[in-house]
Amino acid sequence: MKHAIISGITGQDGSYLVELLLEQGYHVHGLVRRSSQFNRTRIEHLRKEGKLLDLHYADLHDQTTLRRLVTRIRPDEFYHLAGQSHVGLSFEIPESTVAEIATATLSLLEICRDLESPPRFFHAASSEIFGVPATFPQTEETPFKPVNPYGCAKSFAADLCRVYREAHEMFVVNGILYNHESPRRGESFVTRKIASTVARIAQGSEEVLELGNLDSERDWGWAPEFVEGIWRTLQQQSASDFLFATGTTTTVREFAIAAFLEAGIHLNFEGEGETESAYGSDGRLLLRVNPRFFRRVDSHKLVGNSQKAQQILGWKPTIAGSEVARRLTRAELESAKSELP
Ligand code: NAP
Repeated sequence: MKHAIISGITGQDGSYLVELLLEQGYHVHGLVRRSSQFNRTRIEHLRKEGKLLDLHYADLHDQTTLRRLVTRIRPDEFYHLAGQSHVGLSFEIPESTVAEIATATLSLLEICRDLESPPRFFHAASSEIFGVPATFPQTEETPFKPVNPYGCAKSFAADLCRVYREAHEMFVVNGILYNHESPRRGESFVTRKIASTVARIAQGSEEVLELGNLDSERDWGWAPEFVEGIWRTLQQQSASDFLFATGTTTTVREFAIAAFLEAGIHLNFEGEGETESAYGSDGRLLLRVNPRFFRRVDSHKLVGNSQKAQQILGWKPTIAGSEVARRLTRAELESAKSELP
């Protein structure tokens, strides 16, 4: 039986990955951080089912505990998914973002290097390492040019992973992940914010959906499909980096239109740029641009070429863009209905 450690098991990707690994017969060890309230809603169902899943307290800032656990468990595979994952927030809390993403990855690589038989190691890198790229679509070879603290930290960690693979001959993989969503996505992310606000409006809420740059283009995929790819990277003969993306772009505006349509609401747009807004067929204001959400330097367009993952891993994304918006909104509408008295 294989033993795997997942850091970030309580997050969106960790929760799908643990389901996949348990199905494959792994004994899974999840690292969780202590907080004053339990934050395990995404994996609680597995705990109740009594699966081969052990949770261990270990904050990314606590190297002693990380070393003790990794040395004791001696995992075959280590999926490193934990860390502050919100780009906008990384401007507010850059030091802890960099400590969790960059320094903690270095610590984990060192801890693994010291083992007699180091585990296969997956690092969740991000399309944000490309920032404002010179070429479209990006590939594993595109130079890094991050434009926010989160992207800087991810690019440092990704470079380190490559160095450990080459200099220490460790089995270390960077998964360069483009945005991937699901109903388990954190509520502060724009996709989930759009879907949940649209569902509340459809249920009669008076609120207005406020967004930043509606022209921003993103390559949005489906989290369970990405997690399948993540697992496959560690099942190969040799380690290398893989980019995971759908290869299609959708603007924030298109995403919002698809979400409103899923709730049966057609939007009429007026104005442009920072003054753009949209109204329902009854003339009610439903969406407005708020300049507060604009950043001085931002990645306006990111789109990836996942040909390598498709050819070597046999990975194929099937859900993208507006279909992601429809699925998220449907899930929000269903959960809103179940909460009605
Ligand atoms: P997520 O839902 O935000 O989950 C982050 C996880 O990290 C949570 O389990 C969180 O624990 C844990 N964590 C944060 N700080 C920690 C600390 N100091 N010590 C221990 N654990 C800590 O993120 P996700 O969407 O699953 O993404 C997984 C990874 O992929 C992240 O590294 C993210 O940056 C990267 N990524 C994601 C996307 C995407 O579109 N989802 C795209 C590119 C890259 P709590 O539950 O206690 O908060």
